[in-house]
Amino acid sequence: MDNELYNYISYLNNGSIFDSYAKAQAVISRHTTPICSVSGGADSDIMLDIVHSVDEAGNVKYYWLDTGFEYAATKEHLTELEQKYGIEILRVKAEKSIPACVKEYGVPFLSKYVSEQMMRLQKHNFQWEDEPLEVLLQKYPNCKIALQWWCVERYSDKDGVQKISRFSIYRNKWLKEFIISNPPDFPISNECCEYAKKRPAKRVIKDFGADLNITGIRKAEGGIRSASFTSCFSESPTGCDTFRPIFFYTDYDKQVYNEFLGVKNSRCYTEYGMKRTSCVGCPFNRKVLDELEIIKAFEPKLYKAAVGIFGKSYEYTAKYRAFVKEMKFERYGIEYNEALKFTRRLSCADYIKNGF
Ligand code: SF4
Repeated sequence: MDNELYNYISYLNNGSIFDSYAKAQAVISRHTTPICSVSGGADSDIMLDIVHSVDEAGNVKYYWLDTGFEYAATKEHLTELEQKYGIEILRVKAEKSIPACVKEYGVPFLSKYVSEQMMRLQKHNFQWEDEPLEVLLQKYPNCKIALQWWCVERYSDKDGVQKISRFSIYRNKWLKEFIISNPPDFPISNECCEYAKKRPAKRVIKDFGADLNITGIRKAEGGIRSASFTSCFSESPTGCDTFRPIFFYTDYDKQVYNEFLGVKNSRCYTEYGMKRTSCVGCPFNRKVLDELEIIKAFEPKLYKAAVGIFGKSYEYTAKYRAFVKEMKFERYGIEYNEALKFTRRLSCADYIKNGF
């Protein structure tokens, strides 16, 4: 990193930004074959800016995982990044594209974990029965983990049957009741994550003989991806460490970075108005309906394709959300969101005056 940049970063007086540069310089210089995963998203833009600034020797190789279902704006942005930094970003093809995976294995539904368990149950031709774990284990003996999720119980020879909460179907309210009343008539699967993302990433690491993989994951983004880490660096016994330079960045740090270090995001952000980007129309995104509206307006062909690929999941999710609403209404006698709004409108003084 040149002196001028160092002075400027110090002048910004932002601990997260200063730390990320210092760590990036230290970590990258300790490795001989570092590679960096560029996604074209806003977090990745900052990560790339840091990595490129500290990698004076030009050791880092850059790659992009092409899932076979991508925004045109993202693809354009990759070319812009290559021109801006004078680098090459290797386009890595998916082992199987997202559309191909959905066709072959099934469609993602609700979350990665839910899809995984439902996929396992479907593989055993499970009939979505509401029976105790012992009974179901007899009937489907090779499907223990998914049955435990379904039954909200765990079984071991030592302790017998015990209740569980963390890895149970009730992490999603009334999901079991919903599935029993509305068994899915289509295959559910999260295999596109495996074939379009995980495996190609592993292949790149192997092909480059990389000893460091750099990604733009942030703790603040939440979700299963960031929750699996507690720090910005993980040492790997297999030889490829992972480094997340902006792991501790807040949204405010991002804003400061973009403003003062001149990072320009793709048209997904600047023109379409997206706040974050992940796989186009992925049903795991809780705000996928809003995202679809944006896609429809700016990339209409992609919108049509998303509905064609994930349509069954969107319909099933909408049905599930309506079911949850109904159950809440039944239980609380008032439409749930209305109830929330009502309680939020009351001030502390109201509570004191009217009693709790
Ligand atoms: S994030 Fe969603 S669309 Fe992307 S690979 Fe995973 S399940 Fe498929």
